[in-house]
Amino acid sequence: MHPLVRVSPLALLGLLGAATREPARARASEAAPVAPEPLAAYCPEGTLPDGDACVAWPDGADEGGEDAPAAAGGHHDRRGRWQAYDQIPRQPERPADYARFAWPIATPDGPRVLSGYDLDLPDEAQRRGRRLSHVGHGGVDLAAPRGTEVHASPLEHQEGDAEVLCAGKLFGTTDITRHTVRAAGRVHDSLVLVGHLDGVAPGVRAGDTARAGDLLGWVGDSASPGLVHLHLEVRRVRDGVDPRRVPATQLVAPETSIVCDPRNVLPLAP
Ligand SMILES: [Zn+2]
Repeated sequence: MHPLVRVSPLALLGLLGAATREPARARASEAAPVAPEPLAAYCPEGTLPDGDACVAWPDGADEGGEDAPAAAGGHHDRRGRWQAYDQIPRQPERPADYARFAWPIATPDGPRVLSGYDLDLPDEAQRRGRRLSHVGHGGVDLAAPRGTEVHASPLEHQEGDAEVLCAGKLFGTTDITRHTVRAAGRVHDSLVLVGHLDGVAPGVRAGDTARAGDLLGWVGDSASPGLVHLHLEVRRVRDGVDPRRVPATQLVAPETSIVCDPRNVLPLAP
């Protein structure tokens, strides 16, 4: 018989007791000289220390904007194949009227919308057409004369300045800026894409800071010849993705960001 089989049950209990007591002694000896960290270090975002507990931000604290949830959408593409996607529809409390918003271009008669955001609509109600040819539209197309200045504009509840992530070819000539936004007590990044530009303003490069009012480029018809307009698109970066480490062409990929109705985040016109 193997010698271990002869160990009595009482001896086994003693061994187990020693095994379970050991970590307790180790914890006590390690913890003794270390000053306790302040509770704030342990409170997750969106909560505050209160005595020895973490509590939600009280009403009236700066939680930022509402956290617009993503929804499922889908449409048949130009080849008739079904495409399913995530998208963030306009929230009911946000105005539907595009004229209520501050757009990054100044047009004397206000914005003239050629084509709005429609990825939240049923397939058959989404955009189709020869000149604005894609099925569905994840942005807003604004009519403006060629050469109209396009400026960086902050989003609602933005923290700090924006950053240029792309200044080059994507949707024609395109600028993409990254904006850190606080919503529901936590921050995330949103991307603002302005496309079909006549050109990128001199000196605007990926990595630059984009302060409110900075000139980004001019309205044009690159990659939409003969149809001078600004395509403006907002995308929310997915949790866990650092868009600064993503190639420019992948910033609009569904793994990187979720297309969002711009009316959720653009500031209202004064
Ligand atoms: Zn467009």
